[in-house]
Amino acid sequence: MADKPKLAITWLGACGGCDQAIVDLNEALLRLAGQVDIVLWPLAMDFKIDSLRALPDQAITLCILHGCVRNSEHLEMARLLREKSQLVLAFGSCACFGGTPALANFRGRRDILDWVYRDAPTVVNLSDTLPRARVKVNEGHLSLPEFFDQVYPLNQVIEIDYSLPGCPPPVDLVGSALQSILAGKLPPKGYTLAPQKALCDLCSRNRSKPYRMEIAEIRRIHEIEVDADTCFLAKGILCLGPATRAGCGQSCLQTNTPCRGCFGPVAGVEDSGSRFLSALATLLQTENFDDIQRVIDSLDDPAGYLYRFTQPCSILGRQPLQEPAHDPEDHD
Ligand code: SF4
Ligand code: SF4
Repeated sequence: MADKPKLAITWLGACGGCDQAIVDLNEALLRLAGQVDIVLWPLAMDFKIDSLRALPDQAITLCILHGCVRNSEHLEMARLLREKSQLVLAFGSCACFGGTPALANFRGRRDILDWVYRDAPTVVNLSDTLPRARVKVNEGHLSLPEFFDQVYPLNQVIEIDYSLPGCPPPVDLVGSALQSILAGKLPPKGYTLAPQKALCDLCSRNRSKPYRMEIAEIRRIHEIEVDADTCFLAKGILCLGPATRAGCGQSCLQTNTPCRGCFGPVAGVEDSGSRFLSALATLLQTENFDDIQRVIDSLDDPAGYLYRFTQPCSILGRQPLQEPAHDPEDHD
């Protein structure tokens, strides 16, 4: 009997929500478990890194990797799994674009460590100790992964075969993506396993948009009431649907919350934030400079809002991966 395809699932810098999305396959997960040989899934079973290292290269048929690359351990794991896998699926917005952890890219590594271990009002650090990558103790040396200066999505550190965005990806897309990959019905490499349209194209609220939409001011969600059929943007509430890929299942919209952009840019667009800003600019009621400035000033944390999930892939993204320069404070 032919060997079953080998499946690896693991996380890097992640919250666990993406693993939960796989668990949410429910009965389909049991069928999947019968079809494949799971060689790595820390959520479900105890696996050892040495067993992974001992596998021949390309022995794993499909590796589902979720989470971003924040430290040297994530990088080592991503590279090892790339070596051992025929196909790597970047799973979830952190793996695809950096996700919410990459909002930290607006600060550098030193700022983050200082805040977390020294300056935050709830911190008591009488010895002024910061975590260090290597520390000498009486018994020998202790080591921690290097904390990088920024967060990277997977495609900035290894080659990716497919992407499935979402925070986390919705169960229907997870099920269909896994079945097509395991059945060998493979789209071209580099493909995003989600619809190619913008969220607005599939949103039921789209019908409520007036023929000519004009926005006089930006409003926050708590400032006005919007019913379940009304377009948020038409009411002046920022909803990133025009610049965000569809496929999320509209779970935010269904709970009367505007789109925050977790599915990333629509196909063919690199920077969803600037695409949204340009769409917004065409909707402003005024061409008067002072009025436009007033609207811009009313945007609260525009970079954080427009790039909540995609900072490293955007025009605001930081540097390509460089192996971390050793900070002298990090070592003995
Ligand atoms: S994409 Fe969302 S659910 Fe998945 S690991 Fe990142 S923050 Fe968690
Ligand atoms: S802007 Fe938002 S609410 Fe309006 S149609 Fe697009 S996704 Fe729907």
